Amino acid sequence: MGALRDFVAEVIELEGAAVEPVEPDGLDILAPAPLRSRMGWAELTRLGFGATLAAGAVPVGLEGQWLDRFGALFGERGRWAERQMPLGTPVPAPSDPERLIDHAFDLPNATWRLRGVSPGWARCLLLSFRYTAVSDDKREGLVWLGFNQSTGAVVTDLLLELRPFVLAQDAWSAPDPTVHQMAGQRWDSATLSARVSPLLKHSVQRELEPFLRAMRRRLERDRARIHDYHNDLRFHSLRRLAALAGAATEKAEAERKRETLRLAAIEREYAAKIDDLRHNYALRVTVNWVQGLELFVPVQRYEVLIKRRKGERVVWLDWHVLLRVAEMPMSDRGLGIERTRLVCDDRLHLTDPAGQAPCRSCRRAWCRACHAKCPRCGARDPD
Ligand SMILES: [Zn+2]
Ligand SMILES: [Zn+2]
Repeated sequence: MGALRDFVAEVIELEGAAVEPVEPDGLDILAPAPLRSRMGWAELTRLGFGATLAAGAVPVGLEGQWLDRFGALFGERGRWAERQMPLGTPVPAPSDPERLIDHAFDLPNATWRLRGVSPGWARCLLLSFRYTAVSDDKREGLVWLGFNQSTGAVVTDLLLELRPFVLAQDAWSAPDPTVHQMAGQRWDSATLSARVSPLLKHSVQRELEPFLRAMRRRLERDRARIHDYHNDLRFHSLRRLAALAGAATEKAEAERKRETLRLAAIEREYAAKIDDLRHNYALRVTVNWVQGLELFVPVQRYEVLIKRRKGERVVWLDWHVLLRVAEMPMSDRGLGIERTRLVCDDRLHLTDPAGQAPCRSCRRAWCRACHAKCPRCGARDPD
């Protein structure tokens, strides 16, 4: 429990409390009035974190509401930060840039030419989201999305690899104005939302896949059990009715009536049980933004000319100096997490292959970055 005790000590010190460790595994807290009223504490409170509590200590653990209550003390603080990575020792640009770009790009319907390379700064954005899925069971977790706002590339894995550098407190510094300027503008909210939405949906679905698979298995099992049970009852009931079919006595008539009622009851109960299952397994997924970190990272920036038929367009690709890796090419439409990009005829958009796929209705290929629906027949893609 040492980590939890340290965390709590840090949080409540930020709230102006005086904190004194007390053995075994406890904290004595002298809390100011606002903190006292929020936590429902006396002026002097003793918290205990271990299996053995100091005399008079309130037990605090990971279970229950404690983490939520301490978390609530943060409010909106810590939701957003802006940092610049240190440049460190200068790293020369890769010696064979053509090969590097060839490796990063896969452009089946266009050609490219390298126009130049220069050192620069990338304005990257690492966002975290908490998802909660509730059905008969519950699953919670975090997903991270990372973008290079200077080039448009998706760089989640890359930024997560930089996290150890980011978390090393000494390496942090606020971005200086030159770096700010070199890295270019922040995305506007329309661009941000257009880029985040599909990737977030994809990431949460991927995270929830095992949970959903297990849920479907349980649902199938329950449905089969309920079906078999009622089918069995129904079968026996029908058999009894069949046996009574030839008899014309009053007793047989009464039994027939009873059996018919029983059959109807079995069917009603089956429908109700299936309905219960539907409620029990109904899935609700919520996703909330938790934190954003804007990170300025040193790069070597490649200027690449893309050519498609008579059209030309320049895109930029960053080689990340700290990790010595090139990012994926940018994507105007789609997830942007594979290296293949198709280039559209009209405006030379770079998209995932799905972004130029044939229309589901008339089979004509069309660019999803140019149009929201098929320009020939008006059909839209399913969500
Ligand atoms: Zn069409
Ligand atoms: Zn297009």
